[in-house]
Amino acid sequence: MRRMSATIIDGKAVAAKVREQVAQEVAAFVTETGRTPGLATVLVGEDAASAVYVGGKQKACAQVGIQGFDHRLPADASRETVLALIDELNADDRVSGILCQLPVPAPLDGVEITNRIDARKDVDGLTIASAGRLALGMPGLVPCTPTGVMLLLEAIGVDPQGREAVVIGRSNLFGKPMAQLLLAANATVTICHSRTHDLAEVSRRADILIAAVGIAHLVQGDWIKPGATVIDVGINRSTSSPPTLTGDVDFAAAAEVASAITPVPGGVGPMTIACLLRNTLTAARMTA
Ligand code: NAP
Repeated sequence: MRRMSATIIDGKAVAAKVREQVAQEVAAFVTETGRTPGLATVLVGEDAASAVYVGGKQKACAQVGIQGFDHRLPADASRETVLALIDELNADDRVSGILCQLPVPAPLDGVEITNRIDARKDVDGLTIASAGRLALGMPGLVPCTPTGVMLLLEAIGVDPQGREAVVIGRSNLFGKPMAQLLLAANATVTICHSRTHDLAEVSRRADILIAAVGIAHLVQGDWIKPGATVIDVGINRSTSSPPTLTGDVDFAAAAEVASAITPVPGGVGPMTIACLLRNTLTAARMTA
């Protein structure tokens, strides 16, 4: 029998608290301003997984009193049609936040469409303006999943200041903004990627190890520094029926060495939508 010593970080519980807090603050915002925060989602095409994600975001909005605007366009929608919709939403006072569900079908360019979103309404934090503001330490909208990770660390009392933080993955969506947030919190940050030499050795330095790669069980138990906090962002679907979800970390082995670890599912995942709701409220305040 393996002995599990790590605290399992309950992302569902932390996310539920964030949502509750957002619901209270939305109610207060409506009373103060007479305006209801609104989130517009744009889904192009019929990808089943994307439709589930968008449906989940719309449902979550309704639960906290945010008005949802659910825009769907056919897979063959032209570049001009999609950009015109974003322009319309940018100009709509009822819409505080806009997100375009990625990826968009070819030949549409997700980067171009995302960057058409007014930075004050960029609740995914993916525009060049939002990324620049984050890099410069200026207030702005920050991507939801890395924000969620910072809230999880806070919830378990882990202050990144002075700690060695290693982020595996350098995507614009997660790895880079995650590193910026840790840096802003005064951690010593290392970013790893597919060309990193001896990933295991670099990982072993981490007081806070964050994996966002998309390879099941990439991070082994002996990659973990004893007592480290391990945050597993990866979502990997098995081919079994029904499919199961696993993270990028060998959970059972890592839990024997780490002091705290997120499970998959039920760790980082629930924080993403909670932080989207939080960002929508922040966006509403920015344009109030
Ligand atoms: P991505 O854009 O595919 O980036 C993956 C990163 O992993 C890249 O930087 C890549 O390096 C690096 N990588 C690939 N193979 C590697 C290896 N063998 N060793 C070290 N690094 C390696 O993915 P992403 O969007 O950041 O997402 C990463 C994972 O997190 C996915 O499983 C995704 O589903 C999950 N995710 C979950 C949430 C959530 O809400 N829980 C949110 C976002 C993402 P290169 O840059 O060198 O190619």
